[in-house]
Amino acid sequence: MTTTDVINPSTGAVLTTVPSLDLAGTDAAIERARKAFPAWRDVAPGDRARLLRRFAAVVDEHLDELAGLEVRNAGHTIGNARWEAGNVRDVLNYYAGAPERLSGRQIPVAGGLDVTFHEPLGVVGIIVPWNFPMPIAAWGFAPALAAGNTVVLKPAELTPLTAIRLGELALEAGIPEGVLEIVPGRGTVVGQRFVTHPAVRKVCFTGSTGVGKAIMAGCADQVKRVTLELGGKSANIVFADADLAKAAASAPASVFDNAGQDCCARSRLLVEASVYDEFLALLEPAVKAFRVQDPVNDTAEMGPLISAGHRATVSSYVEGADVAFTGEAPAGDGWWFPPTVLLAHSTGDRHWREEVFGPVLSVLPFRDEAEAVRLANDTEYGLSGSLWTRDLGRALRVSRAVETGALSVNSHSSVRYWTPFGGMKQSGLGRELGPDALLSFTDVKNVFISTDS
Ligand code: NDP
Repeated sequence: MTTTDVINPSTGAVLTTVPSLDLAGTDAAIERARKAFPAWRDVAPGDRARLLRRFAAVVDEHLDELAGLEVRNAGHTIGNARWEAGNVRDVLNYYAGAPERLSGRQIPVAGGLDVTFHEPLGVVGIIVPWNFPMPIAAWGFAPALAAGNTVVLKPAELTPLTAIRLGELALEAGIPEGVLEIVPGRGTVVGQRFVTHPAVRKVCFTGSTGVGKAIMAGCADQVKRVTLELGGKSANIVFADADLAKAAASAPASVFDNAGQDCCARSRLLVEASVYDEFLALLEPAVKAFRVQDPVNDTAEMGPLISAGHRATVSSYVEGADVAFTGEAPAGDGWWFPPTVLLAHSTGDRHWREEVFGPVLSVLPFRDEAEAVRLANDTEYGLSGSLWTRDLGRALRVSRAVETGALSVNSHSSVRYWTPFGGMKQSGLGRELGPDALLSFTDVKNVFISTDS
């Protein structure tokens, strides 16, 4: 078995080394999950709920430890990392309410009784990216386990530490061996095997659109269920009648949070032309005040980028672009990048069209509501977005017209575990979280029982 060095992106130093499983190791993990499935499926609903609640409680007891791991491994600010560990606990508690409520229907038929069951699928494969290692893992495993599936989970090679620890905490909480298997390794080895192995009945993937398309194509071969959460290029639309001061004060966090490595980042700012100059004048001090610091500091609002390679990619979007202004970032070791605001001159500009996945905001003016909607929709993506206006009618019209899976009016709401999350167009397929996600980890079985003797 080979190993991978895990790097601290704030310093560039090696933190530790973890195993990188090969094909045989991956198959062995899938086999353990396959063997664990029948017994886990048959755990009484109330007992499965209790085990998930106990898992949530153990996560809660280790909140600071998990948050600390994420600060060191992913460069997340300590404030964000605490929220993320708390989110794992909350998602587990939320779906712990599901086993006793996973009821089917009784449908009227002649000559008997017709009932439906939501059957678990079997082994579910979850492929997690490096940008939000803890929440994205839990958004997959919590509903999957609640519905009676077992799980194999591949963390990103760059950020495996919290997933590995969550796997240990699951065992500590009494979740049986094999029910939640953490399988560290490369995407092209471990992740790809989830797609090709016949015992894995569903793949949940979060990551780049290109890899997501390949996974969807691969899953077609076995008609394997798939949920995809892919890229985004979300718009933040500011109308002239909005509370401009509030919109400007909140715009930086909506795109620079997690150093912009967020599929929901509002990375395209559309400002009504009549207030364009006024808005940029309000935005500049807010960007310059955004605190990019060592993520262990409680005051840090943004940490480093995830890797040297990723910093080079992000830089390539800024080279040759029209820079309006930037914030500050620490110098020295680590993959630091300052918050950067670019003026777009056409919708063809590369930084306007492509997902940068870094702290880079592109700005463009618009003339009227129709143009705002047209520009917001002029992208292959449709994940998130925000709009700012005091006109209720316009807020509703634009909310319905923008082709995106989640939208906030006069705010930049983050993901709530009890509401659905997912993308339209090429941002994804299916929805995570909320009341409906559970059913995507089941298949409906219809049973007719004859009453004729
Ligand atoms: P990837 O899509 O390559 O990686 C996401 C996950 O998929 C990782 O766990 C990765 O494993 C795994 N993976 C990679 N290739 C395969 C494969 N062929 N089969 C199965 N699994 C695979 O994203 P990157 O990390 O390369 O990031 C590139 C860009 O993608 C970012 O700059 C950003 O634009 C976008 N992205 C979007 C995310 C989102 O939240 N929607 C999240 C992450 C990235 P491993 O890396 O360990 O090899």
